[in-house]
Amino acid sequence: MTTPPKAPLPPADGRRRPRLAVHKLSSCDGCQLALLNAGESLLALAERCDIVHFAEAGVVDAEAEADIALVEGSVSTPEEQARIQAIRSRSRWVVPMGACATAGGPQALRNLADARVWIGSVYPEPQHIQALPTADAVAAHVDVELSLPGCPVSTQQVLDALATLLAGASPFAEQDKVCMECKRRGQVCVLVTRDAPCLGPVTVTGCGALCPGLGRACYGCYGPAESPEVATLAQRFADLGLAPEAVARRFMFQQSGAEPFQQAVQDWRRRAQEGAAATSANAPGHADSAADSAEQGHD
Ligand code: SF4
Ligand code: SF4
Repeated sequence: MTTPPKAPLPPADGRRRPRLAVHKLSSCDGCQLALLNAGESLLALAERCDIVHFAEAGVVDAEAEADIALVEGSVSTPEEQARIQAIRSRSRWVVPMGACATAGGPQALRNLADARVWIGSVYPEPQHIQALPTADAVAAHVDVELSLPGCPVSTQQVLDALATLLAGASPFAEQDKVCMECKRRGQVCVLVTRDAPCLGPVTVTGCGALCPGLGRACYGCYGPAESPEVATLAQRFADLGLAPEAVARRFMFQQSGAEPFQQAVQDWRRRAQEGAAATSANAPGHADSAADSAEQGHD
């Protein structure tokens, strides 16, 4: 979720221009590419600040002090755990950008399982894999001043936030839901008209309601909006005919690490397991096999 900043960025001391660093943790680089795609706006940005570290753009000084540190990616390894602390200590403003940095991203799916079991089943020598048990949002490890969600992050949102910060003001924190954006744009609701399991009613906007605008259900890549009625929406999906496991999976994309979505996943997976157990108990032959087992036990 986009959170309001604590305070405006104080003016940099008059002898130098503000410094911007762009750091990468566990991620696909998509959010850095979204910033690179800014094209001429990136050149304009470079005229207003010194870009001291942005490996994707060819500027490398990971130890540089910065006024604003954009951070892409989740904290997924012990090395990243130490690195985010170092970034925090060298930066005046830390701004996680993208679903990985703000909620753990797709890799936070491992938080729903036992990561050690997964690693053991994939790697022949798992002892060489240095991974934390969970993939976390940056804010789970250090204080942050502003969060910019999305997968990838919106180029315009990043540029707007940077321009506002460099002007010494507080960036606007988006709070509306994707539904509101659909209404503003006059888009037909895919949930109401097509029974599509759309997460727009609980997802914060910032993308311009991109997916419903193309006739597709939102899958929540910007994460939970303020006061999201996730349980009610999940029940609506079930009323549409989705099985409990399918309801859970609607919340298992890039934002499964965000607390309200994680709760929905756990609740509906539990219902799926309870349903499977009840089906198995009522299956023909179950009583016989239970009796068989009991008899074997007596033997
Ligand atoms: S938020 Fe999405 S685009 Fe950005 S780094 Fe993570 S997976 Fe890639
Ligand atoms: S409509 Fe939903 S899934 Fe699509 S880009 Fe926007 S937040 Fe992401």
